[in-house]
Amino acid sequence: MQDIDLKQYIRGIPDFPKPGILFYDISTLLRNADAWQLATARMAHAVAPWQPDQLAAIESRGFLTAAPLSTRLGCGLIMLRKPGKLPGETISLTYDLEYGSDSLHIQADAIRPGQKVVVTDDLLATGGTLAASVALLRKAGANVVGASVLIELTALRGRDKLDIPVHTLLSYD
Ligand code: 5GP
Repeated sequence: MQDIDLKQYIRGIPDFPKPGILFYDISTLLRNADAWQLATARMAHAVAPWQPDQLAAIESRGFLTAAPLSTRLGCGLIMLRKPGKLPGETISLTYDLEYGSDSLHIQADAIRPGQKVVVTDDLLATGGTLAASVALLRKAGANVVGASVLIELTALRGRDKLDIPVHTLLSYD
């Protein structure tokens, strides 16, 4: 079990969602009970020393990593969501994409000032999404102590956009 090569459960789908893009599909990892258990156990083991108060989950596949991590670590979970999804007062941040822009929101009362937060997503590519999430969390009062992702596409150098430690379970060039 400990020797499982988790990369065998990640599928590369060419030309998704657009021609020329190789999409790393995590569905095949999620649907294998042993592999998913091991993946989340390893992620939790790496994040534990940061002793977060909260795990911040980036919509939507970040919800999948955040839920098992938060229960394994015994900390809370905060959702970072697309516009129009969160009830009550929110704080937002707009960030640039390759074409256009996007926004993320957090509930204004989600974080007590200075709480230690680890942010998580399925995949780190250019780093735009994680960098925006870190900025939004700081705007909301968080002390962002690290980021945890299942997959990092290292050639895109996304981690250069981040000023926090990043733990990656599986790396691809
Ligand atoms: P970045 O902002 O780092 O360029 O892109 C990361 C975001 O895009 C993540 O939220 C991730 O869910 C999504 N993403 C980009 N490429 C892929 C991919 O190949 N596979 C998966 N599962 N997500 C991707």
